[in-house]
Amino acid sequence: MSIPLQFQELDDLIVKHTAPPVTPILRSKLSTLREQVEAQTNVADELATLKKAHTALQNEHEAFKAAQMVSAPAFKAYLCPHCGQMQAELTGTKTGPTRSDMMLDIQHRYYHCHKCKHEWSEPMK
Ligand SMILES: [Zn+2]
Repeated sequence: MSIPLQFQELDDLIVKHTAPPVTPILRSKLSTLREQVEAQTNVADELATLKKAHTALQNEHEAFKAAQMVSAPAFKAYLCPHCGQMQAELTGTKTGPTRSDMMLDIQHRYYHCHKCKHEWSEPMK
């Protein structure tokens, strides 16, 4: 039997088996109790709704994080001058490739493009 029906049955029993001044006192107590139970039921419903919304947001966040991990490269990306893609990686710094670089110990940054496999170096400024 549902709670509202049990409250109704109890109210009917009070009316049938008690006499004033007891009847209005018991019915008033019962009415207060009924309001409190209804308020708690509303809170429980709201909690269930919030839990559902929280789970949906958690799932959305997990999907977002997974998508970020797929699209973000595992290295700091630089623009490749050969193919124009942000797919180049700084692989290191060392003395430049020309004779004068070597004689003057001019340091270069070396890059490798993951997209087109182009490799190049630039003198450090
Ligand atoms: Zn490239």
